Amino acid sequence: MDDKRECVKVVIRCRPLSGQEKIDNREKIVDMAVKDGAVSVRRPGTQDSKNFTFDAVYDEHTIQNDFYEHTGYAIVESVMDGYNGTIFAYGQTGTGKTHTMVGKPDPEEMNGVIPRTFAHIFRNVDCGQNKKFLVRASYLEIYNEEIRDLLSKNPKQKLELKDHPEGGVFVKDLTNMIVKGAPDLQQVMEVGQKNRSVASTLMNNESSRSHSIFTITVEILEKGMDGQDHIRVGKMNMVDLAGSERQSKTGATGETLKEATKINMSLSALGNVISALIDSKTSFVPYRDSKLTRLLQDSLGGNTKTVMCACIGPVDYNYDETLSTLRYASRAK
Ligand code: ADP
Ligand code: MG
Repeated sequence: MDDKRECVKVVIRCRPLSGQEKIDNREKIVDMAVKDGAVSVRRPGTQDSKNFTFDAVYDEHTIQNDFYEHTGYAIVESVMDGYNGTIFAYGQTGTGKTHTMVGKPDPEEMNGVIPRTFAHIFRNVDCGQNKKFLVRASYLEIYNEEIRDLLSKNPKQKLELKDHPEGGVFVKDLTNMIVKGAPDLQQVMEVGQKNRSVASTLMNNESSRSHSIFTITVEILEKGMDGQDHIRVGKMNMVDLAGSERQSKTGATGETLKEATKINMSLSALGNVISALIDSKTSFVPYRDSKLTRLLQDSLGGNTKTVMCACIGPVDYNYDETLSTLRYASRAK
């Protein structure tokens, strides 16, 4: 995994037209050449197209299982070998971030990346000969640069990010549940999602303005050739990012504007980190510029695998946002 290109992948996923978009007879402006990893976006009402290429593109026909096989699968495999990995969903609200990360509970084909990792991890646990595994899960939200524990009885409480004396960054007092099987993980996810919507209602904001991070930590205990027990730890982070839409559109003022500025700041800090990881000429990676990148520092770069999935909508009225998402992803590429 020495090659940076192997470790960080930037992909695009375009959702299908919604029922309403079909009724309104909206103009489809996004075209994808899946084999070439190419996407083109046409300025509405013209033939003026902008073209981009990425590590992969997934069009509206891509089913959840295929998306997982191409993205999350390899990350989970390396997590089970003791490496860290992260998958991000980026994009404007309504373009499929939550569909990609969480999906729907049934039918099973509609499960997104997070529930698919549950099944995958415990399949490996059950057939790991001479190995013992301890699996833990945490689920948090970053809203306005404040961290909240989605598994806590008091999800409104703000948690602190601490530097560990022996290196590494951690969230003080974050719940880290031991889980024994895929159904436990499923339950953890549901509790967290319920808390996420409760907390966002209490604070009068939408979940689309916060980043959520679901983390599964796997400790692998294995007897070495020397007869001693060896422990390795792998960590899988699944991040549903705040909506990337520019807030000027919504006429934000005061508190909302301050909040919007923080979202933009943390998304651009993430873009800077990913582009520094890919750029072989840069050795400085600006992890410290946001809570999100500080928190994920040990899971971005080095021996870790990262997938950035930028989600887009297919039709005319999203032209500006779609272009801005593709530019963001292109810079992160
Ligand atoms: P976001 O989390 O980015 O705001 P959502 O995941 O909630 O967006 O998606 C918005 C709507 O579009 C939802 O109704 C979702 O089910 C639907 N959707 C998104 N992506 C897809 C897809 N690839 N296939 C089918 N429906 C999708
Ligand atoms: Mg969402």
